[in-house]
Amino acid sequence: MPKIHELSETLTNQIAAGEVIERPASVVKELVENSLDAGATRIRVDFVDAGLKQIVVQDNGTGIERDQVDLAFTRHATSKISNEHDLFKVSTLGFRGEALASISAVSHVEILTATDGAIGTRATFSGGSKKGQEDAAARKGTKITVQDLFFNTPARLKYLRSPRTEIMKIVDIINRLALGYPQVSFTLSNTGKILLRTTGNGNLKQTVANVYGRHIAEQMENIEAKDNDFKVTGLISKPELTRSTRNFMSILLNGRYIRNFQLNTAIMDGYGSKLTARHYPIAIVSIKVDPLLVDVNVHPTKQEVRLSKEKELSRLITTAISNALVEKVEKTSAFTNL
Ligand code: ADP
Ligand code: MG
Repeated sequence: MPKIHELSETLTNQIAAGEVIERPASVVKELVENSLDAGATRIRVDFVDAGLKQIVVQDNGTGIERDQVDLAFTRHATSKISNEHDLFKVSTLGFRGEALASISAVSHVEILTATDGAIGTRATFSGGSKKGQEDAAARKGTKITVQDLFFNTPARLKYLRSPRTEIMKIVDIINRLALGYPQVSFTLSNTGKILLRTTGNGNLKQTVANVYGRHIAEQMENIEAKDNDFKVTGLISKPELTRSTRNFMSILLNGRYIRNFQLNTAIMDGYGSKLTARHYPIAIVSIKVDPLLVDVNVHPTKQEVRLSKEKELSRLITTAISNALVEKVEKTSAFTNL
């Protein structure tokens, strides 16, 4: 039997990276979530070669102090939680302190960051080691450039799907985050060609128009409902406007895009018999809840969460939607009766 020994930090980071960074879209998701946590109001994402050659995420958020840059790239180092109580009331998108360490373990990364608008810091990391750091002129905010993703993990490269599919996954995550944050302006481009631009003026309908097109935005209804624990707002398509997949339903829980089968079903239940089989609505359902009722520490990608009172929330969503649709019918018939 070979002797037992502890693995090097580089190797453990690479192993951990496998859980968080599955594909280019995971890098985009983690970096943009960091920008949102840093209070950015403008976020630009550009990628080249489906994100494998390069991904750049630039924000106008708080930036990182020069002497904190190394920590930002250290695994389990975070500014977002400090003790075990915080873990039960996470109000930021990140909290695990894993993303930057993981990304830099499987690519070449350059960070340019500044906490005010003058002198900032440029640092480079590659395959889990730091390569250099210097002062650099920078605007307030952070720009992270990720190159040659998975250059040192060939197995992961092989597992990726076609460039087209990988690009679709990047577009999908940015669409959902843009819909969750209408007050933030997003620009997404592929090798300089703009794929999405949102104004960031806070108007959800306008954001839906940017993401899905004006024609669809015009056929969406507002929903709103509230109980002691949850506040539900958003936009849903009229029953006539459906899609053949569930992918056009976005659920945002305290700004986090989550996947949740029960809540998807709750949305469809709100339509009742107005939906025919295998037809799915377009919906943006934004839920505000006390973080104490949510356990986000379920999966490294944080897209699955455990929710107390999920049944109550489901009922609230269903009611919000059926009310919005009933009101519509009543309004129309009142109009016809005139
Ligand atoms: P987490 O987001 O879970 O804290 P990350 O590895 O994603 O872990 O980031 C580590 C830390 O680096 C964050 O806690 C934050 O303090 C800082 N950071 C990362 N990205 C940014 C950014 N775009 N703007 C400001 N600070 C950032
Ligand atoms: Mg993060």
